[in-house]
Amino acid sequence: MRSLYLLLSLVVVAVSPSTVPTSYEGAQVWRITPPTLDIIGKIKKIGALFELDFWKDPSAIGRPVDFLVPAKKAGDIRDFLSREGITDYKVYIEDVQALLDDHKSAYEKPRERSATRDVSSFDYSVYHTVDEIYEWIDMVDSEYPFATKRQYGVTYEGRPMYVLEFKKTSSDPKPIIFVDALIHCREWISTASLLFIFKEMLQNPTYSHMMDEADWYFVPMINIDGYDETWNGDRLWRKTVSTGASSLCRGVDGNRNWDSHWSEDGASPLPCSYTYHGPTPASESEVRNLADLILSFGFGNISAYVTTHSYTQLILYPYGWSTQLTPDDQILNDTGRMMSEAIEAVHGMYYTWGPAAEGIYVTSGATDDWTYDEAGVKMSYTFELRDLGQYGFLLPADQIIPNGEEFLAGLEVLKNFVVDDFNP
Ligand SMILES: [Zn+2]
Repeated sequence: MRSLYLLLSLVVVAVSPSTVPTSYEGAQVWRITPPTLDIIGKIKKIGALFELDFWKDPSAIGRPVDFLVPAKKAGDIRDFLSREGITDYKVYIEDVQALLDDHKSAYEKPRERSATRDVSSFDYSVYHTVDEIYEWIDMVDSEYPFATKRQYGVTYEGRPMYVLEFKKTSSDPKPIIFVDALIHCREWISTASLLFIFKEMLQNPTYSHMMDEADWYFVPMINIDGYDETWNGDRLWRKTVSTGASSLCRGVDGNRNWDSHWSEDGASPLPCSYTYHGPTPASESEVRNLADLILSFGFGNISAYVTTHSYTQLILYPYGWSTQLTPDDQILNDTGRMMSEAIEAVHGMYYTWGPAAEGIYVTSGATDDWTYDEAGVKMSYTFELRDLGQYGFLLPADQIIPNGEEFLAGLEVLKNFVVDDFNP
């Protein structure tokens, strides 16, 4: 009885939403740059054994791997690495809690609230809460006759999920470009940069052609419950917040939960893993509702889909589940290269591009494979925004606008391709 009680209290502790910010006291981020495939295999083994939170997944020889090392696991991980003969690793972020505190003091500073609340006076140089982003969606919807907010479902905790439709009147049909953000809720830069980008397309004459020539759909927040958690509980929370009945751990990795080669390589069957694929394909309301929305356009009717993540500065395209290339590999590669060049021309930031599994790492159940195969979106991309690891998910707010400017240049290239290629 006593052990049952203990077990039940453990379950309650594990699944209760946090009310105090999660502490990362003593935690560090370590980096290993694997010189051989054998070492990559060993890093994956350590990852599974210690349930590591990879900030940068093990991928290819010479490509750095970053992972969070909680204080209480540091000794065991160090011993394990030395037993496996891995001596060449370094502490990349010395004090995660200190970085979090700096980051927090910046995002908690009082907002410049102007008397008029509108799209142009909204502060794009700071990160925004769930409610502030809802407010922005409302402002766009009310200020622009061709912009419409549509609810396409509710989250696990019952928050409304919105897509913004930007559809200027035109006698000719136009291609559709769909952009999403924040399926991984700690990747704040994804939404922040896109709020800036859509403001530019709406207000800056240099970019108005982007909405003249294509219809845009924008989901600013997919994992809204998780995003709220990152503001009020665990800043480094990645997954959804759903609670499986049989599970000790909360949450599913939304970007492993899509019904495309679900539960294959590069996703974990373990509920406590950071890459847990969930109990069934599209088990998460956040994924299921978005999938239904995308399918409502009809197969092949969306010309381009961009799902936005951070960090590591990558432009990825299908497939993630297999190193097999798609029939559209050449065009995805050429456009990826042109986007990378356009991005680099803005602030000198280099983004690597390539098919996800072949060039970077294997992932199954990811958004872009699903949009490509199941929704017929030829130009399906995953963007990983700034940086290369110096701040990781805790990117300072003064990089929001520069990151937005370069990402906008990439999206402009994609739009140009899609318009030229459009054949209704
Ligand atoms: Zn991500």
